[in-house]
Amino acid sequence: MKKPDRKAWLQGGAASCSNPPDPPPGPAWRLVLLGAPGVGKGTQAELLCERLGACHLSTGDILRSASCQGVRNRSPALQDALLSMRQGALVSDETMLELVGERGRCLRCCGGFVLDGFPRTVAQAEALDGLLTREGVGLDAVFDYELPTEEIVARLSGRRVCPGCKAVYHLAHQPPQKAGICDACGNRLIRREDDKPETILTRMRAYEKNTRPLLEWYGRRGLLVTVPAHGTPDEIYARAWTCGRSAQAGRTPAAGKPDRGSAAGDEALAPPARLS
Ligand code: AMP
Repeated sequence: MKKPDRKAWLQGGAASCSNPPDPPPGPAWRLVLLGAPGVGKGTQAELLCERLGACHLSTGDILRSASCQGVRNRSPALQDALLSMRQGALVSDETMLELVGERGRCLRCCGGFVLDGFPRTVAQAEALDGLLTREGVGLDAVFDYELPTEEIVARLSGRRVCPGCKAVYHLAHQPPQKAGICDACGNRLIRREDDKPETILTRMRAYEKNTRPLLEWYGRRGLLVTVPAHGTPDEIYARAWTCGRSAQAGRTPAAGKPDRGSAAGDEALAPPARLS
């Protein structure tokens, strides 16, 4: 499936995507991904988007893309947000809601979406509910990826990313062919500023305190699908749909939600019909 350039999401304002997604053959998927930092949400979001034709809406990517722009173009709120990000702390709900609120049209995009990194607090989840209602769309499922803390810390401290094409590597599990250089575009790989050991701990604490309560919040709404996040990206992807099916069993299909069969183009890893 075509990979949208996400210009409308990354830049906000009046920016529009130069290659917007094609409408999928059936109803679009609208998913939220939850999980501690480093659990592999970004990789899963990419796989889901590639196979479902949806757009990867990452709030971390909005901030990283803003940090590449000149300091003069940043509002004081954005400047504060980037400082919080560097320290591994959460950006204020107010700033995040402004950033996501002004990108509401990405939520109703015909290709659907995979929200990665938002919501991160109950206040953000409540606001997202309001935004989705305003845009006339609803969530299909919330995937929560789970992994023991020691494994997460090991993953984060070995992670290296390409500042050019955004490819992700791991020093031990997925090293580039030439040390420190991106296989895809030849750029020098970097360690994300918030992947430094002292920052990782702050991010984990922020997750436990602010984001973990969302599991209960979405659980009560019948949307939560818990996915053990060990193994290869493809194994985790397949497991997410298997877990989704189990969660779906015994649930009454929601009124007005159409069913759809395989849409991922890969029968072995295809998503099931609607999860709820
Ligand atoms: P991520 O790439 O999702 O791990 O986000 C990187 C950083 O951006 C986080 O550690 C936060 O500082 C900030 N951030 C991203 N999304 C949010 C959010 N929804 N709420 C608060 N801070 C966020």
